[in-house]
Amino acid sequence: MADKTRLTTSAGAPMPTNDHSLTAGKRGPVLMQDYQLLEKLAHQNRERIPERPVHAKGWGAFGTFTVTQDITRYTRARLFSEVGKQTEVLARWSTVAGEQGAADAERDVRGFSLKFYTEEGNWDMVGNNTPVFFVRDAYKFPDFIRTQKRHPKTNLRSPEAMFDFWAGQPESVHQVTILMSDRGIPKNPARMNGYGSHTYSLWNDQGERFWVKFHFRTQKGHAFHTNAEAEELIGKTRESYQEDLYNMIDGGDFPRWKVFIQIMEEEEATRQSFNPFDLTKVWPHGDFPLIEVGELEMNRNPENYFMFVENAAYAPSNIVPGISWSPDKMLQARIFAYADAHRYRLGTHYEQLPANHAKAAAEVNFYHKDGAMRFFPPKTGHPDAYYEPNQYDEAARADPGVAEPPLRIDGDADRYDPADPDADYVQPRALYAEVMDDDERARLHSNMASAMGPCSDAVKERWYAVLGKVHPDYEAGVRKAVEDDVNAVPVTDDSQVTTRG
Ligand code: NDP
Repeated sequence: MADKTRLTTSAGAPMPTNDHSLTAGKRGPVLMQDYQLLEKLAHQNRERIPERPVHAKGWGAFGTFTVTQDITRYTRARLFSEVGKQTEVLARWSTVAGEQGAADAERDVRGFSLKFYTEEGNWDMVGNNTPVFFVRDAYKFPDFIRTQKRHPKTNLRSPEAMFDFWAGQPESVHQVTILMSDRGIPKNPARMNGYGSHTYSLWNDQGERFWVKFHFRTQKGHAFHTNAEAEELIGKTRESYQEDLYNMIDGGDFPRWKVFIQIMEEEEATRQSFNPFDLTKVWPHGDFPLIEVGELEMNRNPENYFMFVENAAYAPSNIVPGISWSPDKMLQARIFAYADAHRYRLGTHYEQLPANHAKAAAEVNFYHKDGAMRFFPPKTGHPDAYYEPNQYDEAARADPGVAEPPLRIDGDADRYDPADPDADYVQPRALYAEVMDDDERARLHSNMASAMGPCSDAVKERWYAVLGKVHPDYEAGVRKAVEDDVNAVPVTDDSQVTTRG
């Protein structure tokens, strides 16, 4: 035994057996004293933590961000400080609506989250594979997610609820168009773009602020499944993304993205025909060209999925000096909601877990104290400094030198309704009429028809009216595809009782 690794209890005592329970007599019963058996069963009962209410199914990898172009005139963030600089990154991609056991190749938006372990703390870029989102105000976010999840009575996904909600929230048509386009089912995470989606800000050493959008353009090329291909694939495997991603990285075929920013001067934001802080809008490339920043390469599979992917906690609240937020209302809400989700799901000190701990930071010092998972010594610079202010010179102090420039606010506090709803149709119209070709439009019509086929006539009509405002051909194309769809489920009062969509 001396040359073998000895099995121990979790408290470190050597174990005599991992096979036979302690019984009174040869045939039992089992004695309560066999604590290690009880412990083994109790641990199994606790192996799962609450899954994320959204983005439950995910795939992750470690990698490297390398700066290729100098953007120090916009930001003092250390990760961008010189060309050639490298920063370790943990990525997690995900579907939004499906539970942890859902199939990977489902039509859905994909989460695209990156944790940059910078020397001034972690910067989390919590984006999607689409440049926009379904709603622009967080009041509507819980309602929207409810329509993507299961109907409370049938426990099935409900196209009726999805399209009913979207029709009542027509700003969503931009994102729904992208979702129903070819980009709705990427082949795997390496074959799709990532977008910061929100408008963020960068600020430099001179205290100047610039509005910014982040873009991650796949270097492997876009590749997507059609509905038919995805259905066939899911019949064979539900884990196509995990398989592709793991095997690519294991085989040295590393996923890569070129990283770009778009920059808008603070004052320029007041002169746009659209609200640049509205998450349902992009910034046109022609007006705000992409500026290359760097390259992202994912090159290491995590040693343990649960430890580094399930426990990875991304939050837009994690920014570093030189990067900040914007007035975007959805972003403002996510600053609270994401960190709060992690406190609930993982525990109070979730940021001390290996996936989330600020690795590259020279120091991590804070005055938050006890609570679940307090498994680390005090981090304040002095053992008696468990409060602040205090008398200890070595104890951690705030550094006014990293204060960001003031956020210029325009207007009175009020509950503003966007004044120009027609503006919501301009960008989806450009996507439909100018970016897509005839074949893409035909697939869009067919994908949307397949998704909305099971809806009631009333909901279909409400949605056609939205499409008609984008473009008459869009409405006509989807109407025809719905009528032609031989697989469409007949309309009944129970039309939400279907798994299609
Ligand atoms: P551009 O012609 O410069 O940009 C069009 C962009 O559309 C492409 O660069 C590509 O983005 C993206 N695209 C192509 N096919 C699809 C698809 N099936 N689904 C989603 N996006 C697609 O024009 P504009 O910048 O003026 O934008 C026109 C419209 O393009 C916008 O209203 C918006 O709907 C869409 N778009 C714009 C983006 C932007 O940041 N400006 C980003 C993505 C879409 P990419 O290069 O990122 O792959």
